Amino acid sequence: MTDLDIAKTVTLKPITQISEMFGINPDDIEMYGKYKAKIPLQYINKEKAQKSNLILVSAISPTPAGEGKTTMSIGLSEGLNRLNKKTTVVLREPSLGPVFGIKGGATGGGYSQVLPMEDINLHFTGDFSAIEKAHNLLAAIIDNNIQSKTNSLQLDPRTISWKRVVDLNDRALRRVIVGLGGTTSGIPRETGFDITAASEIMAILCLAQNITDLKTRLGKIFIGYTFNKQPIYAKDLKAEGAMAALLKDAIKPNLVQTIKGNPAIIHGGPFANIAQGTNSVIATLMGMSHSEYTVTEAGFGFDLGAEKFFDIKCQSAGLKPKAVVLTTTIRALKYHGGADLKSLTEENIEVLKNGLPNLEKHLENIAKFNVIPIIAINKFSSDTQAEIDVIKTFAAAKQIKIAVADIWAKGGEGALDLAQQVIDVVESHHSDFKPLYSWKSPVKTKIETIAKEIYGAEHVDYTAKAKSHLQKISDLKLDHLPVCIAKTQKSLSDNPKLLGRPKDFIITVREIEIAAGAGFLIPITGDIMRMPGLPAHPASEHIDINDNGEISGLF
Ligand code: ADP
Ligand code: MG
Repeated sequence: MTDLDIAKTVTLKPITQISEMFGINPDDIEMYGKYKAKIPLQYINKEKAQKSNLILVSAISPTPAGEGKTTMSIGLSEGLNRLNKKTTVVLREPSLGPVFGIKGGATGGGYSQVLPMEDINLHFTGDFSAIEKAHNLLAAIIDNNIQSKTNSLQLDPRTISWKRVVDLNDRALRRVIVGLGGTTSGIPRETGFDITAASEIMAILCLAQNITDLKTRLGKIFIGYTFNKQPIYAKDLKAEGAMAALLKDAIKPNLVQTIKGNPAIIHGGPFANIAQGTNSVIATLMGMSHSEYTVTEAGFGFDLGAEKFFDIKCQSAGLKPKAVVLTTTIRALKYHGGADLKSLTEENIEVLKNGLPNLEKHLENIAKFNVIPIIAINKFSSDTQAEIDVIKTFAAAKQIKIAVADIWAKGGEGALDLAQQVIDVVESHHSDFKPLYSWKSPVKTKIETIAKEIYGAEHVDYTAKAKSHLQKISDLKLDHLPVCIAKTQKSLSDNPKLLGRPKDFIITVREIEIAAGAGFLIPITGDIMRMPGLPAHPASEHIDINDNGEISGLF
């Protein structure tokens, strides 16, 4: 059975019932049909949220074999609920790009899913569209200002870094020229499109704590320079009010349900390389305000998503996670150990052992944040007992907790051991989260701390361009911002080909972008794709709808 087939066997509870379980009077939610709702922001209770146990689900370095963090987060939350701990899973919302491309949706899989999966994967409650509009409104205002004779800020079109966005994989839009068509149709200039998940507004919405904070951050978006080299921000164009107005509903978190009818919150979806890679602060705080345990996911491997989760999101919102569940698969470890994709389903103890250093490095990294890890083996049907024992022996030698989680085939029932271990870690009070670096350190120190401590680099090199960007950041007085390093997710290093645990490598910072509104700097260490393309045979070829309005082909 496909994920969608499994999803279709479930009789959904009305969202009013889920809301009641969650602890909010059903009259107070904003319904989007029968099974989706938005929760007004006044239901965040920071005092109660402080008492909730926040559990982060992360993973070893991703491989084409797929690790299953979202599936694990959902399965773990079902397991905790089975053990009578009131738990909410809080996740990112899917982008349409991957839905029609290669990766598929982002609603979990097997018997660990959030529902209704067709809706969540296709438009959902329109948050991405609202972000797209707010982003493109600013772009329209910028081009209008360049055209204007009476209101001109004298923006130098060649310095404008603000592009346009659309929520599709459409490589033909990466670089475009706008303003063609003569004097009434704008000033021609080169620009481009990113996918909506890569918009700075996505990052802003996911870090904002309320509407005032949202507006302040939107106003701080850096746009470019005037011909006299003066910096121009969105507030200089008086754009932030209208942009925030467009986001009036998108800022509210979305309530849905898991396969077992437990509450789930799905909200926001920034990238995990050029942005913080995790759902909105508002959604996390909403989940925490109404649950004893809150389970959430950070994108890609621990080195990328989780480092940003801890150093950017937790520091910005004052969150203190109590445990990290490190999703690990035997297939992925074999891939790190040198196996090729086709042989991953065959037992191979030697190759598996060769892959363990990747797991080891991520465990060492978790310890640097003073949070207790639990290894969760996401069980695939091809895993053998001998292979599972290899990882168990490795964990025992390091005195690290480990559980086999059969969440895909069995849902929460397959996560009971993991859930119990999470409870044990939380109740032992051994985690005392501390960030890796202080935001107050110099920018280079922040970059080097992450590169050396987390990635395991020997040294950091800066291109001439990156050095000029460091100067620009200092001139703009933005040195106090945290750094959100854009790096390949495939390797701990900046070279996607170096699997396992690379050593003696140098990280090269090629440029440093400014996301002054989101409130971070983006050192770029490779080619980072902000507008993916579709494969030769995109997933869209299999997606269909019948006369009853039933969707097929989603996964
Ligand atoms: P991530 O969040 O790490 O990107 P997902 O949880 O979205 O990963 O899972 C990626 C894909 O792998 C999904 O299609 C999911 O159904 C599938 N998957 C996850 N775990 C398993 C498993 N144990 N067995 C089979 N398929 C799985
Ligand atoms: Mg995921």
